Amino acid sequence: MTSDEAERKMQFLFALRSRGVTDKRVLNAMEKIDRGAFVTGLFAERAYEDMPLPIPCGQTISQPSVVGLMTQALEVQPRDKVLEVGTGSGYQAAILSQLGRRVYTLERHRRLVQGAEAVFSQLRLTNITAIVADGSYGYPEQAPFDRILVSAAAEDPPGPLLAQLRPGGIMVLPVGQSDAVQHLIRVRRTETGYEYDELRSVRFVPLVEGLGQE
Ligand code: SAH
Repeated sequence: MTSDEAERKMQFLFALRSRGVTDKRVLNAMEKIDRGAFVTGLFAERAYEDMPLPIPCGQTISQPSVVGLMTQALEVQPRDKVLEVGTGSGYQAAILSQLGRRVYTLERHRRLVQGAEAVFSQLRLTNITAIVADGSYGYPEQAPFDRILVSAAAEDPPGPLLAQLRPGGIMVLPVGQSDAVQHLIRVRRTETGYEYDELRSVRFVPLVEGLGQE
């Protein structure tokens, strides 16, 4: 690592901490997974800034501090089977792969799945499976999940995702209309029902029905 790279990494981690990402395991994962590997083209040099950036198919890679806060709220345990909806660049899935046992990530654009898979193999992340699918229906083949993280905003938590959460499990997702303020919420499934708490306001691309064109 050059001293420039080391400096950049320190600033990246400092920004995360100052925005409330304090969990040691999450910070370690974010130190280890190079966000620069997931951003290509014009914006690559801004990969270490705390801002969302454009990726192909008109989508965005989320802001690192939001990735950190969502991951922290998910409280992933080493034996957990995790579902992500909205692979995008694959960055969030890569972070989750450091914390849980196995990650399944669903994306409606084939091109994004292929791009993410290429980075996963380049970084030798072997416990992630990326699948082209409409994530609103979850992934019944592997349900139930210990943890579910949704990276696109729905108006309400999708029923199939609630159903695929194991009792004792946690789901973190943005809810609200795509052109308005959305709220990040955490859902805990208990033996008898679901408990909700609201974390903060956020802005995500919408959860869209069906598969994408490319
Ligand atoms: N977690 C991503 C952020 C991607 S933005 C990252 O770290 O880069 C949200 C993604 O959700 C977009 O790529 C979008 O195509 C995808 N998406 C939207 N609706 C979806 C759906 N119904 N099923 C699967 N993916 C969906």
